[in-house]
Amino acid sequence: MEVDREKVVAWLKEKWKVPTVCPVCGHNNWNILAQAWEAREYHGGPMMARTKLLPFVSVMCNFCGHTLLFNAIALDVVERPQEAEDEDG
Ligand SMILES: [Zn+2]
Repeated sequence: MEVDREKVVAWLKEKWKVPTVCPVCGHNNWNILAQAWEAREYHGGPMMARTKLLPFVSVMCNFCGHTLLFNAIALDVVERPQEAEDEDG
């Protein structure tokens, strides 16, 4: 889903206090995507309907592809996911 990219940039400017060079390649050329991505809790088998989700915003190094993930809830760019019990059915 789309997120407010300017809000992500502002959050990073406020919180990113160490040098902003990539820890892998040393370049300083990041791509901040304007979408939230999700990771699901791993259960070791087929995907389960009721599982916890974590939403992320990704920041990728344009030179080597190293990617940093920031919790999109902490950045306040997405709503906290509804609990599985809230699903219909
Ligand atoms: Zn890099």
